[in-house]
Amino acid sequence: MEKVLEVKHLKKYFPVKGLFFTKGYVKAVDDISFEIYKGETFGLVGESGCGKTTTGRTILRLIEPTSGEVLFKGKNVMELKGDELKQFRREAQIMFQDPYSSLNPRQTVFEIIMEPVRFHGIHVDDPEEFVIKLLESVGLNEMHLYRYPHEFSGGQRQRIALARLLALRPEFIVLDEPTSALDVSVQANILNTLKDLQQEFGFTYLFISHDLGVVKYMSHRMGVMYLGKLVEIGPADKIFENPLHPYSQFLLSAIPVPDPELAKELKAKRKKITGEPPSPINPPSGCRFHPRCPYAKEICSKEEPPLAEVEQDHYVACWLYSKA
Ligand code: SF4
Repeated sequence: MEKVLEVKHLKKYFPVKGLFFTKGYVKAVDDISFEIYKGETFGLVGESGCGKTTTGRTILRLIEPTSGEVLFKGKNVMELKGDELKQFRREAQIMFQDPYSSLNPRQTVFEIIMEPVRFHGIHVDDPEEFVIKLLESVGLNEMHLYRYPHEFSGGQRQRIALARLLALRPEFIVLDEPTSALDVSVQANILNTLKDLQQEFGFTYLFISHDLGVVKYMSHRMGVMYLGKLVEIGPADKIFENPLHPYSQFLLSAIPVPDPELAKELKAKRKKITGEPPSPINPPSGCRFHPRCPYAKEICSKEEPPLAEVEQDHYVACWLYSKA
């Protein structure tokens, strides 16, 4: 399978400023590596503050990394300049969570969609026809062409944002909680539109969400993040069926199970995890999950477990599965 994106040992630390000097660093993303293949959706999950959004933005170079590499179609994104960087900005796009603030309230839908097209110097014979076709592909129509963002619902605004992305014919899209600000009924519509567009145009998605049900519905493969680290990577159905990392088990146990017998069985099988994630300024030594982990053993607080392949394409960072 063709790799669209390779993330290698990516780190992003944010300084915490004191009155006179830097007091420390928030290790938002701390040495993560993963790959995304052409035409797939890679889901990234974890509690708020685990580093998902920082990962998405660093990959797109909306924020500069502290260290590490991001290869997009084999080229190091951090080294791109001039026309190459402009081309990357066209091919790799992001859809933000908030459909209310991502559109310019003073522009009509036509202007919103044509602005990036003009910026990238893309020639279209008939701009009006071009924008109408884009609107139709996301479930809107020509009636919406000269209206302003405030005249639309949240779901419609997300569709306008999507049409603006499509205008550039991107290959890779970071979807950062794209439906979490929307009503549940509208969410399903947008998710299905994203799936249809992927089928039609072969898009590759990085799908960031704290909503595990949505990640399960959307993703082919997924990664679980905890305190800036990737603790499990694998095919989404394998992880949902049989999460191996204790933190993934904890996260997945929060999803309601419709069968009460199965729910009881799962509850009995899994040990309880308590407490809140520690501060990312001074993360725990060794495995960052050890203060909350019911399976922790001596080595866990001393040495960081490597992300090791425990079955085909399924990687886990946990001493329960690795040899010291
Ligand atoms: Fe728990 Fe140790 Fe595995 Fe970390 S490495 S998840 S503390 S068993």
